[in-house]
Amino acid sequence: MKKTLFLNPPSYEGFDGGAGSRYQAKREIRSFWYPTWLAQVAALIPESKLIDAPARGVSLDEVAAQAKDFEMAILYVSAPTFKSDILVAERLKAENPNLMIGLCGAHVATLPEQSLAASDKVDFIARHEFDFTIKEIAEGKPFAEVDGITWRKDGEIVNNKDRALIHNMDELPMVAPVYHRDLVVEDYFIGYLQYPYMSFYTGRGCRSKCSFCLWPQTIGGHVYRTRSAAEVVAEVAYMHEKFPQVKEFMFDDDTFTDDTKRAEEIARGLGKLGVTWSCNAKPNVPYETLKVMKENGLRLLLVGFESGVQEILNNIKKGTRLDIIRRFAADCRKLGILIHGTFIVGLPGETKETIEQTIKFAKEINPHTMQVSLAAPYPGTLLYQQATENGWFKQGDLVRDDGLQIAALNYEHLTSEEISESLARFYKAFYFRPKKIFEIVLEMAQSWEMTKRRLREGVEFFHFLNHRMDQA
Ligand code: SF4
Repeated sequence: MKKTLFLNPPSYEGFDGGAGSRYQAKREIRSFWYPTWLAQVAALIPESKLIDAPARGVSLDEVAAQAKDFEMAILYVSAPTFKSDILVAERLKAENPNLMIGLCGAHVATLPEQSLAASDKVDFIARHEFDFTIKEIAEGKPFAEVDGITWRKDGEIVNNKDRALIHNMDELPMVAPVYHRDLVVEDYFIGYLQYPYMSFYTGRGCRSKCSFCLWPQTIGGHVYRTRSAAEVVAEVAYMHEKFPQVKEFMFDDDTFTDDTKRAEEIARGLGKLGVTWSCNAKPNVPYETLKVMKENGLRLLLVGFESGVQEILNNIKKGTRLDIIRRFAADCRKLGILIHGTFIVGLPGETKETIEQTIKFAKEINPHTMQVSLAAPYPGTLLYQQATENGWFKQGDLVRDDGLQIAALNYEHLTSEEISESLARFYKAFYFRPKKIFEIVLEMAQSWEMTKRRLREGVEFFHFLNHRMDQA
């Protein structure tokens, strides 16, 4: 088995773009997701090490100094950092010319030939779901026999046939031992989760087909493939024992609640462990399921509302209705389940008026916390295809030089500047209201830890707003 380095490469300071982040950008408030995708494949290769450089603050020099210790390096690449990720690969190869280098992630899965052609120092691209692809290469299988890779044969770029998706997810080992071996729990922070938290996947794929959403369209697919409830509960029990400092477990599956019966079964198991947990959900979960989850430790749901305008939800194939969203939000409030809501400005069909309607809707359903993103056309998504065909994505960049998201889309009736400017207005309209300020003060009054945390986030948030307003 090849000694393998799994690397979330160093890039912009504070950039959360790696193997576990859906929106690849530096955020308003310092935040990092766990590099779950890399940890999952690292768990298949005992002779491995995972370095999450952005979260740990590891520099390129420090990573390069370790290149000689390994026979293979696998870099998780994102669209906004592609150029810098290639420079990292080249630096590693310069330090160790014998190092085999592979790239993985949604971006290279979508553009494998272009990505391989970007540097002759890269030996292969592991497309789509890459766990067993990389394991076979680490075991020494010849490239010609490995499904799912793009590589060079006699100087020509060759695409081997696609690898079949994993259907029995219980074939994948736990990620927790890799977290324990290679990561520092305290490096990972998400504003709306209790600190320290821990996240991982219990299944892959999403039944929905939202046009902007990267993962299901590039790696996970549109069938929700899951690990058994018993395995999931066993992994949380292991984590709970190994990481007693963790205050909350987050299931980062695209839509954990897509299979309500399984969600309830897992919830009952977690209830017996007495842990606090959270998960991603679509705003359509039935009341009964919400109730079972709440009674068994669910604290918070991360919900993509995206827009408060039905026509825009239809344009992006969200598959939700505003009346169902309202009912869901009311059910959560009744049960005491907190919501972190996410919205997107600048989706197809957006106008100045629809932005105002979405702000109004966000205030009406009033999630506990919320986040606004700028529509981002990642290669591999339907949104990218629409944006390139219609000339909405002319400049071709997704983030600025410092890693902050830019408004990448530009419509005839709504400019990228207007979209960008609306971001700060959205945040201010939502948070600077007496009702919201009262909620935050009340939350701070309940614990000194929360007070310190919210004050720190507040400083970062004001810094971000000032920055945005200077740019607009
Ligand atoms: S429901 Fe969520 S995870 Fe699923 S496709 Fe839509 S945005 Fe993506």
